[in-house]
Amino acid sequence: MKAMVLNGVCNLDQNRNPLIMIAFPDPVPGEKEIVLKVLTCGVCHTELDEIEGRTPPPFFPVVLGHQVVGEVVEKGPGADKFMVGERVGVGWIFWSCGKCGPCLEGNENLCSEFKATGRDANGGYAEYISVPEDFAFPIPDAFSASEAAPLLCAGAIGYRSLRLTGLKNGQNLGLTGFGASGHLVLQMVKKKFPDSKVFVFARSEKERQFARELGAVWAGNTEDEAPEKLHSIIDTTPAWKPIVEALKNLESGGRLVINAIRKESRDQEYLLKLDYPMHLWLEKEIKSVANVARRDISEFLDLAAEIPLKPEYQEFKLEEANIALMELKERKIRGAKVLKIAAE
Ligand SMILES: [Zn+2]
Ligand SMILES: [Zn+2]
Repeated sequence: MKAMVLNGVCNLDQNRNPLIMIAFPDPVPGEKEIVLKVLTCGVCHTELDEIEGRTPPPFFPVVLGHQVVGEVVEKGPGADKFMVGERVGVGWIFWSCGKCGPCLEGNENLCSEFKATGRDANGGYAEYISVPEDFAFPIPDAFSASEAAPLLCAGAIGYRSLRLTGLKNGQNLGLTGFGASGHLVLQMVKKKFPDSKVFVFARSEKERQFARELGAVWAGNTEDEAPEKLHSIIDTTPAWKPIVEALKNLESGGRLVINAIRKESRDQEYLLKLDYPMHLWLEKEIKSVANVARRDISEFLDLAAEIPLKPEYQEFKLEEANIALMELKERKIRGAKVLKIAAE
């Protein structure tokens, strides 16, 4: 099969083509695994973290990509959950042990043996992928494969982030960063918490404009002060400045949820501007989101179909993966980027 693979971590400022197209062995399904013919695979900021070594894959060459929509074409021994021809999706969670405390509590994203799709196992930047059937999810008919792909990461993590904010209807929510996840969270909030107001902080006027179009009551720059205090804020940026600046907008007892697998170190010194009375005093909290458990993906897909949530996306060919990644790196973002690998 054809696959775009990464042969080692590298610096994207020096190498704009980190992935190369090669002929890769077709996957063979193991016990309770299914092989998917990949229809689409979303392009995520986490791929940049893998390529640049902030969360490096343990083996090379590796196929990246963890927002995979595919059609079941083959089943391994004991795989009986899906039928050949069924359309399923796979997110960041590829496998967990199923036996430890977090796994038994439904927080298998916190399992110490957790394996990530497209990092610890080959992902979706390829024509085929083999996945454990227990970590694949039926894709609602409401979505095309290109619409569904960004839902599997940006959407599902957005859902967990929103869950972890503890927001109640009527309370104000802030979003700092307005990319693939932010624009989906805004639409979820409007459905789940119709009386809540959403305030968006984003660096580019284009993103702020997009936020207003989607119903944000206010959109300002990263360091601006929102016109009202916020009960909770979700951060989806790769930087530190947005966190420090967002904290001053939190209400007492408010919570900032960081939705990022890794932060870049570029502006880490900005943390020295953290001012205890202004940013943290009065029981403000900071919490990270460690991606998703299975319930986040399945609950979110149901909610997304019910809304119905239509992610904005831009399609690229498999061989254009490097272009999509560099655009993401350079923040040329409007909605989500999706590799369209096979026709539905
Ligand atoms: Zn992702
Ligand atoms: Zn476990």
